[in-house]
This record gives sequence, structure tokens and C-alpha cells, in this order.
Amino acid sequence: MPSRAPHICGCGHVVPSGVKCPCQIKRDAERKARFDKDRPSASERGLGADWRKLRARHIRKHPFCVICGAPATDVDHIIPRRVAPERRLDPTNLQSLCKKHHSGAKQREERRKYGMN
Ligand SMILES: [Zn+2]
Ligand SMILES: [Zn+2]
Repeated sequence: MPSRAPHICGCGHVVPSGVKCPCQIKRDAERKARFDKDRPSASERGLGADWRKLRARHIRKHPFCVICGAPATDVDHIIPRRVAPERRLDPTNLQSLCKKHHSGAKQREERRKYGMN
């Protein structure tokens, strides 16, 4: 297999073939972070105005992550909507979570618990 020559990135880095320049990786990450910030999280898309209002009220009342105590950025359904859609707007079915616990371990744990993917 012939090895292709490295190319020189606009920033002056010599970049081996098939590898991204660090400056490009950084730009990609920044673009993704901006994109994620402007976009409602997957679990919030299609939830409607009543949910957004309830969510905002919950975060005001419970501003910290129930797992780690970090400032909460998300409100999570304790019983997932897929399991109990009728409790979607039930204030007792809500908990505040930080970004990390809302997007990562918590959701994986839920999926395991309810056998969903
Ligand atoms: Zn570069
Ligand atoms: Zn947390």
C-alpha cells in the first residue's frame, strides 16, 4: 500500500495523510459546541411550549443537579417519557440534572433499566 505524502495545513502544521490537523480538530469541536448550544437537546425537541415553561420553573426551584450538586442545565423525567408519556408534565416526575448527568450515564442507565436502545 503506497503511503501518501503529508500535506501542509493552512496554519503551517505538517499533517500526515489521513490525519486531521490539531487546528482543524479544534475548529470542529468549537463548531459542534456552538451547534449544540443553539439546538434544543434531543429529549427537548418536539416537547412543546408547556414543557419548556414547566422545565424553566423546575430549574428555578431546583437549580442544582440531583446527582452531583453542580448547577443544573437540564430537567429530566424520572420515569422516562417513553415509559410513562402521561407523566410528561407531572412536576413530581422531574429532576434537575447537570449537562454531564443528563446526557451521559443517566440516559445509558435508563436505557439499560428499561431495555431500550
Ligand atoms: Zn492546521
Ligand atoms: Zn450532575
